[in-house]
Amino acid sequence: MTLIRPDLDAIPAYVPGRTIPGAIKLASNEVPLPPTAPVLAAIAEAAAGGNRYPDAGVGALSARIAASLGVDQSRVAVGCGSVSICQQLVQATCLDPADEVLYAWRSFEAYPIVAKVAGATVRTVPLTEDFRHDLDAMAAAITPRTRLVMVCSPNNPTGTVVTPAELGRFLDTVGPRVIVALDEAYHEYVTDPEAADGMSLIDAHPNLVVLRTFSKAYRLAALRVGYAVASPEVAAALRKVCVTFSVSGVAQAAAIAALDDAENLLAACAETATERVRVRDALLEAGYTVPPTQANFVWLALGERALAFAEHCLDHKLVVRPFAGDGVRVTVSSPEENDLFLAAARSFDR
Ligand SMILES: *Cc1c(COP(=O)(O)O)cnc(C)c1O
Repeated sequence: MTLIRPDLDAIPAYVPGRTIPGAIKLASNEVPLPPTAPVLAAIAEAAAGGNRYPDAGVGALSARIAASLGVDQSRVAVGCGSVSICQQLVQATCLDPADEVLYAWRSFEAYPIVAKVAGATVRTVPLTEDFRHDLDAMAAAITPRTRLVMVCSPNNPTGTVVTPAELGRFLDTVGPRVIVALDEAYHEYVTDPEAADGMSLIDAHPNLVVLRTFSKAYRLAALRVGYAVASPEVAAALRKVCVTFSVSGVAQAAAIAALDDAENLLAACAETATERVRVRDALLEAGYTVPPTQANFVWLALGERALAFAEHCLDHKLVVRPFAGDGVRVTVSSPEENDLFLAAARSFDR
């Protein structure tokens, strides 16, 4: 007998982007700018109330999110980052070890972790050759035991999106019995009119859950706040399995202030969208395979050279995020930092 359940050793730990003093961090898809002044002021004010427990129901923030999206507040569930919402989704849907969580692979590395930690069975469907979700193959992989499907668009780490037609067909095939979570962590960066927008589909599909976060475009990665928009029934279940008080008072205040200052914050996304085209074009020119991206990162399909490329970047004081044997994800940053990265990529001996 061991103290700890024996399967835990086989579950990989989440690999955070490395932070190396003096190096430029392009490994975690963060915005390189700090929160804006009004958000910092709200954080300071909320910090002064740090001796009090936060609003366990996250009422004011939920109301603010609901108003900004034009939905009823009963449809919003806030969590300690959208990674927590992913975990809550598994907890709210999977009870038996035979219950299945389905997602594309490669996709967000938190999905296998939250599914396996909850003791659910994992099923994956490979991305297409052009690094996109194969939603028809995913629909075919649904079994009577499937409880939850994760669809990531734009997909972390490949940057590709699903189209409204693909997603609509998928939802129609899956039917109302299985929860489909559309992870839109990079929604604010999407400019492609052919990309699906989950909010336009949730009224027609009560089993659809849209996940968003304040960690990326809203620059609050350290404060841990994300949310789901779902049917009132699903949202209530998500709130029920949320660890009480896990969304701190500082996080709640910061997120409200960030929504109030959205115009300023989102203006910076336009520069990223311009830069990602420039970065991708330069990488294609240099001979790399890089799918079109709708997020704030690019994917270099380097296969077995992924780790060597990341080491080479480190020699140039750039931290990128390799996935061994598969590829490297690189955050699109300021033009200056992107230029440093492109210089390193051009000098890599493939
Ligand atoms: C960054 C990211 C998130 C957000 O995680 P938080 O827990 O909100 O910081 C969620 N999903 C994907 C695919 C991401 O890349």
